[in-house]
Amino acid sequence: MIVEEKSTCPYCWESVYFEIDTSVSEQEYVEDCHVCCNPILLRINIFGNSVNIDTTKEDDGF
Ligand SMILES: [Zn+2]
Repeated sequence: MIVEEKSTCPYCWESVYFEIDTSVSEQEYVEDCHVCCNPILLRINIFGNSVNIDTTKEDDGF
């Protein structure tokens, strides 16, 4: 199932909606911000019906 979840862009601090596939419980991928087009590293954890999104700048955390 695909759900839309809102999170905050770490570059421009705008609220951005991401489409998330809930069939995979742990995901990590890069998606460009729809507002400022910077690459956001998304770490997604899904527990039952709750979706947790962690957004960081792509060059952080490596
Ligand atoms: Zn942005």
